Amino acid sequence: MTSTTAVKDPVCGMDIETATAAGQTEYKGQTFYFCGSKCKEKFDLKPDQYSGKAAGTPKSGPGCCG
Ligand SMILES: [Zn+2]
Repeated sequence: MTSTTAVKDPVCGMDIETATAAGQTEYKGQTFYFCGSKCKEKFDLKPDQYSGKAAGTPKSGPGCCG
């Protein structure tokens, strides 16, 4: 039970691990992980915008992760 899963922050595209994610949320039966609370807030505002596209290429520039 010590396995961690590498995932991508759907908002900023940053690589994170589920064990160290600063936040997570469930949407449409899928769990999304975030590098910080700001990214989680953005996702919660417009989940369709971030969950619709497969995570991979951040559309907006960097800056959210400080
Ligand atoms: Zn982020």
